[in-house]
Amino acid sequence: MALKGKNAVVTGSTSGIGLAYARALAKEGVNIVINGFGTAADIEKERQAIESEFQVKCVYDPADMTKPAEIAGMIANAEKTFGSVDILINNAGVQYVSEIENFPVEKWDQIIAINLSSAFHTIRAAVPGMKARKWGRIVNTASAHSLVASPFKSAYVAAKHGLAGLNKVVALELATYGVTANCISPGYVWTPLVEKQIPATMEARHLSRDQVIHDVLLEAQPTKEFVTVDQVAALAVFLCSDAAAQITGTDIPIDGGWTAG
Ligand code: NAD
Repeated sequence: MALKGKNAVVTGSTSGIGLAYARALAKEGVNIVINGFGTAADIEKERQAIESEFQVKCVYDPADMTKPAEIAGMIANAEKTFGSVDILINNAGVQYVSEIENFPVEKWDQIIAINLSSAFHTIRAAVPGMKARKWGRIVNTASAHSLVASPFKSAYVAAKHGLAGLNKVVALELATYGVTANCISPGYVWTPLVEKQIPATMEARHLSRDQVIHDVLLEAQPTKEFVTVDQVAALAVFLCSDAAAQITGTDIPIDGGWTAG
């Protein structure tokens, strides 16, 4: 079954990996609900670009992924607007770096809410429709940090390991309903966010651009290359295809070999 005419919700899709997911699914003919923060003008530009480039419907939902009622409302609105949510991509995520004894309690709560609990709330709301239609695809954007840890990232690593656990439970519960659930776990992905860190790091550490990229950012990644947002999005499109119908409950690294070591 082709993906054309299916309907997807992609959380945190106003930039980076989420936007790439939205555009890659739209290219397959999938109608999209985009979500996330940003200026109204920027979001409208991306929304219109998706509609005009790929001839699909695209709507924006501003639901805050820390607010369970707004999350449930986003899924309900999507079902009302498009008739169904066939594909759910959980992607919204934030990071905070600090040693555990100084980790701000509100940052812990925020990261657990956005990176973990929001996926529980979207899945909880979207599953009844998927079960009834006997078809669904749930893709959870985890991280290499769902498989291994790094210091100073307690909330992020805990949330991503939790997401991988939630994913397995959902996969088992839905296994006989034609609904799959999988995690995609990127290593370092080349995003504007990463690119913006380079000049400051060059200055702080007295390094060249190449040294920052290879000796600082890519230290963990054996290929010494960034993952691209398009590579991550292509994996999501594959997981949504019929060829991937028997892939469920997995946590697939796309990390240049990081978690092999
Ligand atoms: P990004 O900052 O470019 O995008 C994050 C998105 O989440 C944005 O659209 C933002 O508006 C949205 N968001 C943040 N808080 C929100 C909230 N409360 N409610 C709704 N939306 C909210 O980051 P990215 O690099 O594209 O990351 C996307 C996902 O990929 C995250 O879950 C992240 O943990 C994961 N990831 C990223 C990398 C990487 O190297 N960039 C590596 C592994 C995993």
